[in-house]
Amino acid sequence: MNGLRYADEVKKSSAYKSIAADIDRGEFSHAYFIPSEDKDAVDTLFALIAMKAYCEKGGCGECAECHKVLVRSKPDVKYLAEGKENFTVAEMSEVTEDAGMTAFEGGRKLYFFKNFENLADAPQNKLLKTLEEPFEKVHFILSAASAATVLPTVLSRVKQVPLGAFPEESVKAALIKDGVPADRAARGARLSQGSLTRAREFAVDEDFARHVAEVTDVLTELKSSADVYRFVKDGIFSKDRIERTLSMFELVFHCVMSAHLGLPVALAEKAEAIEAIASAYSVAAVGEANDVILTCRARLKSNCNATNVADYLLLKLAEVKYKCRS
Ligand SMILES: [Zn+2]
Repeated sequence: MNGLRYADEVKKSSAYKSIAADIDRGEFSHAYFIPSEDKDAVDTLFALIAMKAYCEKGGCGECAECHKVLVRSKPDVKYLAEGKENFTVAEMSEVTEDAGMTAFEGGRKLYFFKNFENLADAPQNKLLKTLEEPFEKVHFILSAASAATVLPTVLSRVKQVPLGAFPEESVKAALIKDGVPADRAARGARLSQGSLTRAREFAVDEDFARHVAEVTDVLTELKSSADVYRFVKDGIFSKDRIERTLSMFELVFHCVMSAHLGLPVALAEKAEAIEAIASAYSVAAVGEANDVILTCRARLKSNCNATNVADYLLLKLAEVKYKCRS
């Protein structure tokens, strides 16, 4: 479909199906919330929802309306909170004022928020009134990595639709259709835990094996906070690589958890290193480590520099390992 990647797979998601069914029934809600860390899938989902909302054929991907959605030239469709910047109260005021104005094309108006987790309480609160007293034919579609970052008052006024994990075969097929060589697509899919974004990161990583080894080395050698300075300037924590490195840490901890639970370890080739890390990181420590990684992602999004984020990551990992030792 006109270069909209992952369209076939995302169309099969429960999030798309349930919103599309609402539109078909004439019950397109004034606000939805889609919890998902899979940002690539969210991008595609947003485009599919917009096509469904405007296309006479329900999102054919070929007509003039669909084309305008795909090239983002619909004046009544706004994409917000896409970048790493903070979203301010003033910007939210502009959005809510804009929502109250007549649509350029006389139809529906759609506002997509991709990284709602980047919004502080104040701008979220600013949106609240509009969610409470919705305008006719105005729809807000919010997405965030987790519902925990969204105010309960906001959550109570939106319809939650999950964008669940994609099956491994479906992830692999999606990457291959998007031009990733089959062997790499298979690797990405196997390690993706159902996320298209993560699958692509692992599939396109040129130095995948080395990258894994670097991360497992850090985890084996990081004994205490005194060791942090040795690693913080490593290439894996450079501005360009740190996001993929965080995904790699998640993957390794996922494997460590599998080892604790006696499940097959996705990184079978690193079984020995994973065992060693598992002996140092208890189940509780792995749980806390995952929270630390999420915080690092949030800090990167709000423009913290890579070195500071790496410093925080390593200090906290040394701390949880010590605190949760079994
Ligand atoms: Zn169409």
